[in-house]
Amino acid sequence: MNESFDIAIVGAGLAGTALACALSSSSLAPLRIALIEAQTIKSDWPACDENINDFDPRVSALTVASQNFLTGLGVWSAISKQRVSPFEKMQVWDAEGTGEVSFDAADVRAPVLGHIVENRVTLAALVNQLKQSPNIHIFDGQAVAHLRLPEKSESEKPQLSLDDGTIIRSTLIVAADGANSPLREMAGIAVRAWDYDHDALVSTVSVERSHQKTAWQRFTSFGPLAFLPLAVNDDDKHYCSIVWSQSSEKTAAAMAMNDDAFCAALSRAFENRLGKVTACSQRFSYPLQQRHAVDYTKAGFALIADAAHSIHPLAGQGINLGLADVKVLSTCILAAHKRGQSVGDIAVLNRYQRQRKGDNLAMMSAVEGFKRLFAPIPLPLRWLRNAGMNVLQQQTKLKNRIIKYAMGIM
Ligand SMILES: Cc1cc2nc3c(=O)[nH]c(=O)nc-3n(C[C@H](O)[C@H](O)[C@H](O)COP(=O)(O)OP(=O)(O)OC[C@H]3O[C@@H](n4cnc5c(N)ncnc54)[C@H](O)[C@@H]3O)c2cc1C
Repeated sequence: MNESFDIAIVGAGLAGTALACALSSSSLAPLRIALIEAQTIKSDWPACDENINDFDPRVSALTVASQNFLTGLGVWSAISKQRVSPFEKMQVWDAEGTGEVSFDAADVRAPVLGHIVENRVTLAALVNQLKQSPNIHIFDGQAVAHLRLPEKSESEKPQLSLDDGTIIRSTLIVAADGANSPLREMAGIAVRAWDYDHDALVSTVSVERSHQKTAWQRFTSFGPLAFLPLAVNDDDKHYCSIVWSQSSEKTAAAMAMNDDAFCAALSRAFENRLGKVTACSQRFSYPLQQRHAVDYTKAGFALIADAAHSIHPLAGQGINLGLADVKVLSTCILAAHKRGQSVGDIAVLNRYQRQRKGDNLAMMSAVEGFKRLFAPIPLPLRWLRNAGMNVLQQQTKLKNRIIKYAMGIM
């Protein structure tokens, strides 16, 4: 089978589906879009029982900027009807000392700092939305096996071959195929990568006391441990989604524990701030690597989200940066389409790269700085770190700038 499109998006994770939605909502002459995904794309709503095993252990802390973007795509109301957990405060502290900083949405006159949303809830809302667009053709359960980008002198379109032999020609190919991005490699784009020497363990847990709509993060010399608040209607249930980042050895040991031993170890690691951890759902772990593509674009080809950059989850910014990429790339593409310019033109794609690379790098550097700050350091420096956190706690203006940066509103 041979098919021809204006834009082929590879990867139907959060970024790829969001891009398909953003491009399909244009009131201009519709672009023909292919969305290709190696897995089967599911659009059924997750069951909404308030059982601990019913929550997706993969959640994202979505910033106000991401919420606004998803509202613009017309999917936020479906997401919030399903299940979102607003958080108003953030409490960060140093396990080795007295340093502690709190951030409060009220300080910047905002109702919330952000929302914790299960990834499958966001994905289902996006997929349901784009299934209503007649100009989107979904190829799922089929991986891209080959990519061919024409040489400068050639006038033909870039080309993809799928596992089943289907050939797709498209003016622009967008790789949204995740941190390991096979397409990035096929396009010959180099990447700067280094291990964080951490694996992230995720699970949904039940705790004794209310999370108080607060995102909690304890920094230890082994790595950060986050308890993210989950909204439940039953006042007697207190659930959090946890992200526990440590060395592969420590993560493997925590994965191997039985539930009781794991809950006891987690309670200790979290200093019982919310009482004991009384239950946990199935645990999953992910190796963490920082990666940044040297280029995001080639003629007829662009990388977005984790395919272009992946960062430590400690600041909860990965998909927020990804959605910002989607917003800028879709704006550049639609503007070019309106002008009658080719959507694969390198000048169009480089406009996207120019607008996003600096912001992504700035956030990556901030997250890297944070991770290094809490790595094992000599006692005098640890003392300074704690003193610094306590000084920051008193600096309202500086804290408010940090809050606004983390919310994506400056
Ligand atoms: C533990 C953890 C916690 C996190 N918490 C947060 C948070 O709180 N806030 C936040 O903003 N970010 C967070 N992140 C980051 C966030 O999860 C990622 O940035 C986001 O999921 C990346 O989405 P994506 O669409 O770019 O890639 P992915 O979700 O990886 O999707 C890529 C898709 O491409 C498909 N694919 C791959 N290869 C091919 C191929 N050859 N052909 C066809 N399809 C292919 C895959 O099947 C997949 O569906 C966290 C990450 C981790 C690991």
